[in-house]
Order: sequence, then C-alpha cells, then structure tokens
Amino acid sequence: SETATVKVALAGCPNVGKTSLFNALTGTKQYVANWPGVTVEKKEGSFTHRGYRINLVDLPGTYSLGYSSIDEKIARDYILKGDADLVVVVADSVNPEQSLYLLLEILEMEKKVILVLTAIDEARKLGIKIDRYELQKHLGVPVVFTSAVTGEGIEKLKDRIVEYHEENDVFHRIVIKYEEKVESKISQIESVLRGKKIGVNPRYFALKYLSGDPEFYNEGVKLGLPELSEEERIAYRLLISKKKREYIESIVKEAYSN
Ligand code: GDP
Ligand code: MG
Ligand code: MG
Repeated sequence: SETATVKVALAGCPNVGKTSLFNALTGTKQYVANWPGVTVEKKEGSFTHRGYRINLVDLPGTYSLGYSSIDEKIARDYILKGDADLVVVVADSVNPEQSLYLLLEILEMEKKVILVLTAIDEARKLGIKIDRYELQKHLGVPVVFTSAVTGEGIEKLKDRIVEYHEENDVFHRIVIKYEEKVESKISQIESVLRGKKIGVNPRYFALKYLSGDPEFYNEGVKLGLPELSEEERIAYRLLISKKKREYIESIVKEAYSN
C-alpha cells in the first residue's frame, strides 16, 4: 500500500539548534539542493514513523519573517505558499524569546505549528524550570522538549507530528489582540479585502499591509486600500511588534522559573 506523507518545515532563529534537531530526526537520510533561483542551501530529509513518511525541510534560520533578507523571504514564502502540512518552530530552551516571536508570526499565517524547546539539557543544567502546560495554554500549540545531545524528546516529537497531522483542527488557536487603533484598522482592511483573491488570510494581510511590508503594502494599494505615509507604517509596525514582544515576555515570565 502507499505510504502517506507528511511534509514538515523546520523554522527557527539562527543557532538555536535547528540543524542538530534535523540531524537527530533524519539521521543520514538527507538531501541538499538550492532554493529555486538562489544559492541558499535547501536541506531536506526524511524518516518514517507510525506508518507515515515524514519529509522535513530545514528553512533558513531567521529572526522574523519580514522582507528584509533573502533568507526571510525564502522561509516566509515557503510557509505561506509551500506544501508544508505543519511547521515545527525550534527555540533554544534557555533563550526562547526570539523564536517565540517567529512562532507568533507563523500562527498569524494560520498554520499548524508545534513548538520545540531544544537544548533542554542546557536549561536543566542551569536549573531553569519550564512549565510546558503553561506554554501550551498561552501559545495554543503543542510543546515538546528535546535535546540533540541526549536524544530526549526526539521520539515524542515524532509522535506529536503524526498526532497533530491527523487532527483536523489546529490546537486551540490564540489570536494576539492589538490595541484598538490597530484592531479597528484591521477590521476596515478586512472588509475592503472581502471577496478578493489574496492567497493568505485577511488578518495576516492586514497586519503586513499596515506594517508597510512591501509585498503586501503594494498589493493592498492595488486592491484599493488607502496609501499610508512612511511615518504611519512605521508607527503601526512598532505597535504590532511591541504587542507581540509584550505577550512573549509575559508568557515566559509565567512559564519559566528557577
Ligand atoms: P542552527 O544554527 O539553529 O542550525 O543550530 P545548530 O544545530 O548548528 O546548533 C547550534 C549550537 O548549539 C551548536 O554548538 C550545537 O552543538 C548546540 N546544540 C544544538 N542542539 C543542542 C542540544 O540539544 N543541547 C546542547 N547542549 N547543545 C545543542
Ligand atoms: Mg548555525
Ligand atoms: Mg542550521
């Protein structure tokens, strides 16, 4: 019989342990190519688990998913438009904040996400305690602790990938609420976009347009959204990223102790 395939994208900031995790999951079953049209390395690998063939794509390490580098553009386009069934966001257990920021951005794309806190061995060594349930509750995604050094959590992660893939629904999606000034703009934009073919969810489009992200801003103006001054776009961008950072800060405060 034919084996069902699950396509998983690995995202995370540089140096959080993404490649080590990729290696722990795939062993020697790896293939290296380039992303189409650019010389950025594309690493793919696979493993089988509970009757599924899992294909992993190691995305370039990025701090966010804006438009400011070729790496960000590759990672973002793949998550938005590629064929991944789910995204595994890899964070360093000791310093998770920046990867959690990335995770919030990917949740706004309405993707199925699993959070992996890796190098959990290091966190333990430092006496850091992390409440996994607290993280799951406030992020709305399954959370798995792993170590590429001890092998802890690797089989559990494989289980979670298969289980989450088999679920029809995304976990229990959290939606970051921005301040009223931003939310009312989002509503206006969503109503202009209603019925138009934009290829992504309207809320995500609205946030990117307001932030002045070139791809979505230019597309938005073409679709009839008003032009915004440079100052307005910067102000929205700051409000939006500040809210995400505050949210992460409060979650980490709740979930981390020593
Ligand atoms: P990437 O840049 O995200 O692909 O990260 P790498 O996989 O290259 O790892 C960055 C550094 O973290 C390397 O020095 C790894 O040896 C180390 N590292 C990765 N995973 C773990 C882990 O689970 N435990 C510990 N202690 N170190 C790790
Ligand atoms: Mg690296
Ligand atoms: Mg790497």
